[in-house]
Amino acid sequence: MTLPDSELPRTEDEWRVRLSPDEFRVLREHGTEPAWTGEYVDTKTAGMYRCRACGVELYPSDTKFDSHCGWPSFDDAIPGAIKEIEDNSLGMRRTEIRCARCDSHLGHVFRGEGFTPKDTRHCVNSLSIRLDPSTT
Ligand SMILES: [Zn+2]
Repeated sequence: MTLPDSELPRTEDEWRVRLSPDEFRVLREHGTEPAWTGEYVDTKTAGMYRCRACGVELYPSDTKFDSHCGWPSFDDAIPGAIKEIEDNSLGMRRTEIRCARCDSHLGHVFRGEGFTPKDTRHCVNSLSIRLDPSTT
C-alpha cells in the first residue's frame, strides 16, 4: 500500500492525477473537510491509519480517541511520521501537521486540552488518511 519512492509524485500536477478533487484540495492545498462529514470521525475499527497520499503509516488505531470535535483525533503518531509547521493563517496561531514523507497536509495539532494523558490532539481530516484494518 505504500507508494515506492520511485513513484512518489514530484509535482502538484502529478499529485492531481493520483488524487480525487476533494483529496487534492485537502492534502495538497491545505483544505479542511467540513466537521462531522469525514468517513473516520466515529470509526472504532482496529488497524493502522496511513497517509492517503503516499501510504506511509501514521497513526495506530489505539491512538484514536473521541474528541467530539467533528474530525478524527489521535493523541500520538508513529515516531517521525509527522512534521509540524507554524500556521498563522485565518488570524489564528496553530500548528499544522503534514506527512513527513510526502509533505501532504493532514490537519492541526493542539496541546494542553487535557483530552487524554498525552495531552495532545492531532485533528486530522478523514480525507488525509486511509484505514488499513488489522486482519488479526
Ligand atoms: Zn504521505
